[in-house]
Amino acid sequence: MDLAIRNARVRGQRELVDIAMEGARIVAVGPGLGGRGDELDAGGRLVAPGFVNLHLHADKSLLGEVMRPNASGTLPEAIEITNDFKRRYDPEEVAHRAGRVLEAGVQSGTTFFRLFADVGTIGGLRAARGLLLSRERYRDLCRIQVVAFPQEGLLRDPGAAELLDEAIREGCDVVGGLPWYEYTDAEAREHIDICFALARRHGLDIHMLVDDTDDPNSRSLEYLAVKTMREGYHGRVAASHCGAMAAYNDVYAAKVIDMVATAGITISVNAHINLVCSARIDREPRRRGIARVKELLARGVNVVSSQDDVNDPYYPFGKPDQLEVALMMAHTAQLTLPQELDQVFDMVTTNAARAARLDDYGIAPGMRADLVVIDAPSVHEALRMQPVRRHVIHEGREVARATLSCELRRSVPGGRKGATGGAENGASVN
Ligand SMILES: [Zn+2]
Repeated sequence: MDLAIRNARVRGQRELVDIAMEGARIVAVGPGLGGRGDELDAGGRLVAPGFVNLHLHADKSLLGEVMRPNASGTLPEAIEITNDFKRRYDPEEVAHRAGRVLEAGVQSGTTFFRLFADVGTIGGLRAARGLLLSRERYRDLCRIQVVAFPQEGLLRDPGAAELLDEAIREGCDVVGGLPWYEYTDAEAREHIDICFALARRHGLDIHMLVDDTDDPNSRSLEYLAVKTMREGYHGRVAASHCGAMAAYNDVYAAKVIDMVATAGITISVNAHINLVCSARIDREPRRRGIARVKELLARGVNVVSSQDDVNDPYYPFGKPDQLEVALMMAHTAQLTLPQELDQVFDMVTTNAARAARLDDYGIAPGMRADLVVIDAPSVHEALRMQPVRRHVIHEGREVARATLSCELRRSVPGGRKGATGGAENGASVN
């Protein structure tokens, strides 16, 4: 073997295990494995497959550093502010900003990113070209897919459909969509039809941003589900946000959730974004504006959570760190029981990997050696403490490492003189 992680706490395993890797693959998992090679000692810490961030607007990331603040906090104003800048996009500049975010993401344990590139008549193909550049430049650190995403709509932005086709020819991996943003329901449906035609022509999967509004009449998810079933695209479609579902009446919501489950559509709920952007015109009580996560889970829908935005006019925060995303999800969807914390952890790992159809994802022989060693003994502690990622492995090679040292300095006689190694989280792991 080339590399082994010793004494790893792996979900679903009763005892600590070693994980042996050869090249880019895991070759053995079990207690006390023999063999020689480089070694990292997890010391009983939680080891998970690398986080999967299925929805990240890397072309717009960090624009908060250069643009005016979003005064209303709403999505329409965010779109308007960004358009000013997009007219001046340059692929090198886009790749540079994306690179800063990718590096931070890898340091927090993410080894797979699905990046959304705005494609339309305002920015042309410049954002897509920038993200395709970063896909090449960061091959050694992570895996990247680029989504050709029509941020200004397709019917609302004549010429965008042709540009989408061109972006795919230039190398984009996934067909994006934004049907709810069209002017009418009929055009929203036409938007979805265009996306499916493109996906079929190029043999690609689909990831749309759907019903990202508090309007209970925004119902493009229903048509997306019908279309997915009729086109036989089961398991190949993801829909982000779907916040309008929170405003649907219970009977209609149950019907749509049932259709989503039958169609095998993944729902990506980026709860922290909606907490900031949705329900801005509510007085009180103020809605959370997120899709009905518990009802989706109960119906067996594949639910994912992703970073979405990093310091841009839509959202001023984001490290980006999928553990932080998971923690926000746990709060917003009120997932707090032990088994619910596991569900939340799945949303940034296995569920997201399933949506991206990564069939070599997981900790088992034959799987890709993409791993993260979290400085915590359990999922609960990982979420609670948000500790450093001790080691990040991509394709069998360590690509990032971190330690944190905190010292408590007491003045009381006999008081313990400080602990090192990350205070509480260090103390709970040997
Ligand atoms: Zn988004």
